[in-house]
Amino acid sequence: MMAGTYRHGRVYCQRSGCRRRVDRAVDVEIPLDWSATHGFRTVTVTIGACREDGRLLDRLLGQLLEARVEHFDLLTVIAHAMTEDARLRAEVERLENDLAFGEGALSYVRDRTERAEADLVEAEGAIAYQRERADRAEAGLRRRRLSFAELPADQQAALRTVHSELSSATAEARFRGGESA
Ligand SMILES: [Zn+2]
Repeated sequence: MMAGTYRHGRVYCQRSGCRRRVDRAVDVEIPLDWSATHGFRTVTVTIGACREDGRLLDRLLGQLLEARVEHFDLLTVIAHAMTEDARLRAEVERLENDLAFGEGALSYVRDRTERAEADLVEAEGAIAYQRERADRAEAGLRRRRLSFAELPADQQAALRTVHSELSSATAEARFRGGESA
């Protein structure tokens, strides 16, 4: 069935299924493009409509053209968000690289410090050992000197005598041993 203009010599509304007579001409603007780049161009088709469908078409066409502007705005927002997202990703990547580099440097310094500390501990151990030996030697020396010095004069004299007698006895024993050989 034709949603036509003429039926039985009368002009009817061009909305499908509507049986009312035409009341007015409605300019139907069909979007030719969906971006502002070319200024939101349209193709206009003029159709005959009854009063009710004329109002309905006016409202729907207005909504369609508004939706087109919103659609374009949304695309702009999305494009901006994508650019910003890419920028942030690059920034994060750069920071991660810096962090990795910093961690590497820190690990190197820590390694060197640990080795230096180990060397220091070793050197300290050697010094402590030498100091201990020196202390022991000094203590031994002091003990011997003191023990002899602390003896009464007569005992010191007696010890000297014993020592010299021991020395001559030893010498004599050696001499005799040499004679008998
Ligand atoms: Zn109608």
